Amino acid sequence: MTERTFGTLWGRALRLSCPRCGEGPLFIGWLRMHERCSHCNLKYERSPGYFLGSTYFNYGQTAAITTATYMTLVFGFDVPKEWVALPLGLYCLLWPLFWFRFARSLWMGFDCFCDPTEFETDDPNIENEVE
Ligand SMILES: [Zn+2]
Repeated sequence: MTERTFGTLWGRALRLSCPRCGEGPLFIGWLRMHERCSHCNLKYERSPGYFLGSTYFNYGQTAAITTATYMTLVFGFDVPKEWVALPLGLYCLLWPLFWFRFARSLWMGFDCFCDPTEFETDDPNIENEVE
């Protein structure tokens, strides 16, 4: 039986691996996900629109860093806002693309931590706990 503590799920999310077993990779390429875990058969998209929650992780992280950086540079160090606008604008465009995979992975880990019953099994041929 595998413990699914916050730390375990956090580590699995950062390794972009299955939140249930930690073995199967989530992604095939940069943006395309496997439908199911290759190790424990967990269906990654739990229901239609399931990954909408990951946009909060992505948007929230991008907005928080953009706001903090802007406030720190413009109000803390008197950097002209014209100098800050372009780099932060590029950050807002590029960072969500990079962070997309981690946002989905963190979302799945968060969901598994908050409601582990959803991750017990979705296949009658496998046991609840794989390891
Ligand atoms: Zn798995």
